[in-house]
Amino acid sequence: ENRIENGGFTSGKGNKTYKDKSDRATVENVLDPRTMKFLSALTNRGVISEFNGCISSGKEANVYHAFGPEGQELAIKIYKTSILVFKDRERYVDGEFRFRNSRSQHNPRKMIKIWAEKEFRNLRRIHSSGVVPTACPVEVKSNVLVMQFLNRGDGAPSPRLKDYQYKDELEVAHYYYKAIAYMRLLYQVCRLVHADLSEYNIVVHQNALHIIDVSQSVEPYHPMSLDFLRMDIKNINAYFGKMGVSLFQERMIFQFIIA
Ligand code: ADP
Ligand code: MN
Repeated sequence: ENRIENGGFTSGKGNKTYKDKSDRATVENVLDPRTMKFLSALTNRGVISEFNGCISSGKEANVYHAFGPEGQELAIKIYKTSILVFKDRERYVDGEFRFRNSRSQHNPRKMIKIWAEKEFRNLRRIHSSGVVPTACPVEVKSNVLVMQFLNRGDGAPSPRLKDYQYKDELEVAHYYYKAIAYMRLLYQVCRLVHADLSEYNIVVHQNALHIIDVSQSVEPYHPMSLDFLRMDIKNINAYFGKMGVSLFQERMIFQFIIA
């Protein structure tokens, strides 16, 4: 079965399909005709073979489950094409040489395309570094980003750190140190500051933290990169503090990361 119906899904292998009106509204909201066209193109090119239910519906993007031609599980992140939510993004892209070319900065549709490409490139950079686990990027086409689906093994997505059930206190501390180490490796090896790091954008997959949602990540020369880094550190400390870990001072973590 190789087709995508407008506003709907092919019947997945026992996967969640959306049922009520509110779900459908969300789906139709994001899957405008142009997005459908890009999805069809990806299907025709054999990148996607089966498109399934929505696994996350956010302010700026929805994430769907899909299968690839070899039956591999994929996550499809589709950026919403509404203008409002993109106002916020300018401050991330403005200081970036990589995205300097920009009359596109005033055209929302082009802006979204740049945004999706930026996430794709950041994912590729992180993934190919081999030092910070993330979802392997597969393809990007306009506002549609295809990547590896981080799964729990039973069809469900791996949990975000926010929803993760720790085995014991030792594991909490272990993941705290890992989170700090990954911020440093991101900075030192990948030359990136995540800039929206929190328990919502870290997935626990195969006993390792996976860093996701990197569309807003910036390089160290971005004029606000160190402010973003301080914010990331603050979020990580706030979360692990709540989990009862004894924390390092934010200043010390900051020095450790940039030194
Ligand atoms: P946003 O926060 O902008 O809506 P994210 O990239 O953070 O978008 O994705 C939203 C949620 O979808 C994540 O918190 C995670 O639960 C899920 N998700 C995203 N990418 C994947 C993936 N590759 N594999 C499994 N789950 C994912
Ligand atoms: Mn997110």
